[in-house]
Amino acid sequence: MSERAAPFYCPYCGDEDLRPSEEGHGAWECAACNRAFRLKFLGLLTRGLGRDGGPADTNDDETHRGEEGA
Ligand SMILES: [Zn+2]
Repeated sequence: MSERAAPFYCPYCGDEDLRPSEEGHGAWECAACNRAFRLKFLGLLTRGLGRDGGPADTNDDETHRGEEGA
């Protein structure tokens, strides 16, 4: 697996005629619409790693703690 993220389709026109740009890492050029764009990896999401798919309310107990005593 390459670390380079390669787009399969142009995000602007949807064409597949993409080629790496000379602009640098992550830069691509679309031969169909003549656009140049750059892909950037922003990081991993903190959510969505669970396999159940449901929302996890793990912090619910701490949220309500102390309300009755105050
Ligand atoms: Zn395009």
